[in-house]
Amino acid sequence: MTTHQEWKQRAESLSIDGRAFIAGQRCTAASNETFNTLNPATGKVLAEVALCDASDLERAVVAAREAFESGVWSKAAPAHRKAVLSRLAQLIEEHAEELSLLETLDAGKPIGECLALDIPEAAACIRWHAEVTDKRYDALSPSGSNVVSMITREPIGVVGAVLPWNFPALMLAWKIGPILSVGNSVIVKPAAQTSLSTLRIADLALEAGVPAGVFSVVTGSGQVVGQGLGYHPDVDLIAFTGSTETGKRFLHYSADTNLKRVVLECGGKNPQIILPDVANLDTVAEQAVAAAFWNMGENCSSGSRMLVPSSMKAALLEKMLAVLEGWKLGDPLDPEVKVGALIEQRHYEKVLGHIEQAKAEGAHLVCGGNAVLVETGGWFVEPTIFDNVTPQMSIAVEEVFGPVLSVIEYTDVEEAIRIANDTCYGLAASLWTDNVNNAHKVAARIRAGTVTVNCFGEGDLSTPFGGFKQSGFGGRDKSVYAHDQYCELKTTWLKLD
Ligand code: NAP
Ligand code: MG
Repeated sequence: MTTHQEWKQRAESLSIDGRAFIAGQRCTAASNETFNTLNPATGKVLAEVALCDASDLERAVVAAREAFESGVWSKAAPAHRKAVLSRLAQLIEEHAEELSLLETLDAGKPIGECLALDIPEAAACIRWHAEVTDKRYDALSPSGSNVVSMITREPIGVVGAVLPWNFPALMLAWKIGPILSVGNSVIVKPAAQTSLSTLRIADLALEAGVPAGVFSVVTGSGQVVGQGLGYHPDVDLIAFTGSTETGKRFLHYSADTNLKRVVLECGGKNPQIILPDVANLDTVAEQAVAAAFWNMGENCSSGSRMLVPSSMKAALLEKMLAVLEGWKLGDPLDPEVKVGALIEQRHYEKVLGHIEQAKAEGAHLVCGGNAVLVETGGWFVEPTIFDNVTPQMSIAVEEVFGPVLSVIEYTDVEEAIRIANDTCYGLAASLWTDNVNNAHKVAARIRAGTVTVNCFGEGDLSTPFGGFKQSGFGGRDKSVYAHDQYCELKTTWLKLD
C-alpha cells in the first residue's frame, strides 16, 4: 500500500493541467483568464483553471450541436458506443491512482475513500451504462394490422451537466453514463472548487474514442457558465446536481428561454430512524456514524437526523462514540484518515455557524464542535453530535452539509414517522428494525426517494437515485430509469394500404 509519505511525494511532483476541454482538445479560455482552485487541506493554491466565459461556452455548444447533427455519436451503432464507453471505464481504472490523488488534493477527500470508492465506482458506473447501450428495445403500439406504429426513443440532443464539488468524479459518471449511452452530446460545468478530475476524465474519454465535441468541459463560475447553459437556446436539457436553491434557478432559466428539460438532484435532510424493536445496537452505531460523517457529511444523502427512542439513546450514543474513536481526522493524503477537510473557507464558516446556532438554541453538544488543525491552513471540523435536539431547531431543519449529527428522541413510531417526513426534502432515509413487518410498513410511509433498511447507502448502480419534494425534479440518476429522461419519445405512425 502506498504510504502517507509516498502520496505526499507524488502530490509534489504531480503536473496539473487546468485548461478547459472544448471540441476535443484542451484550451485556455478565450480571454486567457484563469482562477485558482485550492487544496482544502492546506488552503493553498493547487492549480490554475481556465476561467471560461460566454464565448467559450458558445464554442462548446456549437461543437456539441455539430457532433450531434453529424450522427458520429448520436447515430453510431449502440455496440460501438458501448465499446467506447467500456474503454473509458477501463481507462479510468488504469488511472485510478492519479485520479484519486487529484480528487484528494482538489476536494479534501480522504485518499483511501477515493481509491476504494469514488474512482472505482465512477468507472463501474460508466461500464454499467455502457453495457445497457445495446440492450435497450423500443416498442410497437397495439394499433391494429393496418398500421405500423413505432414508439422510439431518440437522444434529446445537447445536454448541459452542472455538477457539485462533493463527489466530483462520481457525480460526473452518474450524469455522463446515461447521457452518452443514449447518444447525446454533453457539456459539463464542474463545480468551480473541483474541476480537475473531470478534465482528466475528458482527456481519457477522447483517448477511448468519444468523438470531438460530444463531451466538453467548460470550467468557470456558476454565475457565468452554469447560468449560460441554463439560458442557452440551443441546449436541450440541463442535468443538475447541487443545492435546491440553485436547482430552482434552472427552472426559471428554462421557462424564460426554450423550455429545455430540467433534471435536478438537490439537497436532503435525511432521517435515520431506529425502531424500538432493534436488539443489537452495534451495527446500528457503526452505520449511523458512517451515514452522518462519511465524506465529512458533505453528502446529499447523509443521515443527519437520528430519530431514536428515549430508552435507547444513551446506549446507542455510547456505542457511536466508541466507533468514532476509529475515525481518524487529518491530512487526506494519509491512507488511515477517514475525515478530511471541508471544501472551502466559506463552507467551513457556514458549518461552524450551524454548530454555534445549535448551541445557542439549546442543543446539547455530545462530542466535537470545533475547528481543528487550524495551523495547517486547511478547513477541518471535528465530527459533531448534538442531542436534546427538537424537530424545530434550525440544526434539525437546515441542510448543514458537514460533519454534524442531530439526535432527536421520540416516544412512539407514529411520532417518528411524522418527524421524519416533516421536512421540505425527501432524498433518502434509513430505517433500523428487527421486524420485517415494521420494515415494510414504516418504509412505505417515508416520503423519500431511497429508503434503506438496516443499512445506509444509495443501493447500487441498478437502483434509481433521486428525491421526493424539494430534493429533486424531473428524473433520477443511476439505473435504466436514468435513460429515458435523456431521450425524447417519438411516435412514427405508418398507415398501410
Ligand atoms: P451549488 O452551489 O448549488 O452548486 C452546484 C453547481 O451549480 C456548481 O457547478 C455551481 O457553480 C453551479 N451554480 C452556482 N450558482 C449558479 C447559478 N446562479 N446558475 C447556474 N449554476 C450555478 O451546490 P454545491 O454547493 O456545489 O453542492 C452542495 C449541494 O448539492 C447540497 O445542497 C447537496 O445536498 C447537493 N447535492 C445533491 C446531490 C443529489 O444527488 N441529490 C448530490 C450531491 C450534492 P459554482 O461552482 O461556481 O458555484
Ligand atoms: Mg479545489
